[in-house]
Amino acid sequence: MPLKTPEEYLESIKREINLFMFGEKISKFWEHPFYKIIEPSINTVKMIYECAQREEYKNIMTAKSHLTGEIVNRFTHIHQSIDDLLLKVEMQRLLGQKTACCFQRCVGFDAANALYSVTWEMDEKFGSSYHDTFKEYWKDVQRNDLFIAGSMTDSKGDRSKRPINQTDPDAFLHIVDENNKGIFVKGAKVHQTGFLNSHQAIVMPTLALRDGEEDYAVSFGIDTTAKGITMIYGRQTSDTRKLEEGKLDVGNFKYGGQEIFVIFDNVFIPNKQIFMKREIEFTGALVNRFAGYHRQSYACKTGVGDVLIGAAALAAKYNGVEKASHIRDKLVEMVQLNETLWSCALACSAKGFKREAGNYEMDMLLANVNKQNVTRFPYEIGRLAEDLAGGIICTMPSQQDLDNTEIGPIIKKYLSTCDDVPVNDRYKLLRFIENLSMGVASLSYKTESLHGAGSPQAQRIMISRQAKIDDKIDLAKAILDIPVQEL
Ligand code: SF4
Ligand code: FE
Repeated sequence: MPLKTPEEYLESIKREINLFMFGEKISKFWEHPFYKIIEPSINTVKMIYECAQREEYKNIMTAKSHLTGEIVNRFTHIHQSIDDLLLKVEMQRLLGQKTACCFQRCVGFDAANALYSVTWEMDEKFGSSYHDTFKEYWKDVQRNDLFIAGSMTDSKGDRSKRPINQTDPDAFLHIVDENNKGIFVKGAKVHQTGFLNSHQAIVMPTLALRDGEEDYAVSFGIDTTAKGITMIYGRQTSDTRKLEEGKLDVGNFKYGGQEIFVIFDNVFIPNKQIFMKREIEFTGALVNRFAGYHRQSYACKTGVGDVLIGAAALAAKYNGVEKASHIRDKLVEMVQLNETLWSCALACSAKGFKREAGNYEMDMLLANVNKQNVTRFPYEIGRLAEDLAGGIICTMPSQQDLDNTEIGPIIKKYLSTCDDVPVNDRYKLLRFIENLSMGVASLSYKTESLHGAGSPQAQRIMISRQAKIDDKIDLAKAILDIPVQEL
């Protein structure tokens, strides 16, 4: 059965890469002192592989591949039913609960499901063979349980200009050369979730392209260690706390997300890994379908929300105020917001439909409403968590002070609350809430909720396109006996 164990996964990504981190060039990242910063993000991905091994999560974490007939990790599955769409969001909530951060593997998963139907439709129109090429590529992904990153966002240069009008033509990734074996591409992809932790990446255009922009209309799969790829590790708030002695100040000391800035410098892509080459007509469909699937994926934040609600409730308990009515009311509000997010994630999955290619897709309007809610509610849930935790989350002394033989006992004396609450546990918990609301993990919970899968305006555009306002006008007219006619 093609399911890697967490240990096999870890060994499989120990490959020499071209990485920059804090100004240093690093190749064997797993042997470098900075690995302490990278490791939590790898632990998070390992949790995916671990859950897929566990009998209790088999239904959620694995699926039978329609391509190979084998049981595969659900992150490599092409949705074959509404149930698959529902199980996808169940899996994302579960993993959010297990890790309280971004587990990174959804982007390539969503890109694959979008490409499955788009390549089929391209072949229908052009008589090309992209769909078979993609299926062969993806069978290999399933058989080897590969982690595929998804690369969409270009550096974009001057936002008022189209790709071909940029001063620097590389502001959008594009084809720079070609031979009978494949193509060469150049450009950069930013905000690359889990890129260092992945085996391969699926690259897509960032926007719908027009006549004259054919060289930018390109999609392909590529090994993340390929020649010409350079990674630069994204800085995160308080990331160097992971380099300190002791783990108390880290917050979520086990798990974390990872964002990489990736440069493609004349990277060669063999024909068998190219899924789109200059078909501008299909770039809009690919971008929108991928974005739709990924906006459904933001069910992940409900799992993180579950953990944060639990942490806030525990903080109230540690303060001895868990029975106060205003505390209970705030917890109820956090739950209501979180379950509203969940309702939309379920709804966009339950209202999915079958594409002609045979795979299933989420409801586009509801997926965009889901992500639009995610740009707001985690901020409110985070605000309530900070309220319940108290100002101490940003004024506490460091672990070094807590461990100091002279001042440590005095800090403990004054940070003690209820008799049965160990100060170290309270410390750990408060740092965890700090971490989720304003530290490293706030990237996963807040900023990623805002900008991941497209910034809020991108969803508003899609919502307005799907809104059918004229139909709603007709509904009002029908009740009021106003004739339905063009104004
Ligand atoms: Fe998956 Fe959520 Fe991370 Fe996106 S932000 S990759 S949906 S866990
Ligand atoms: Fe994301």
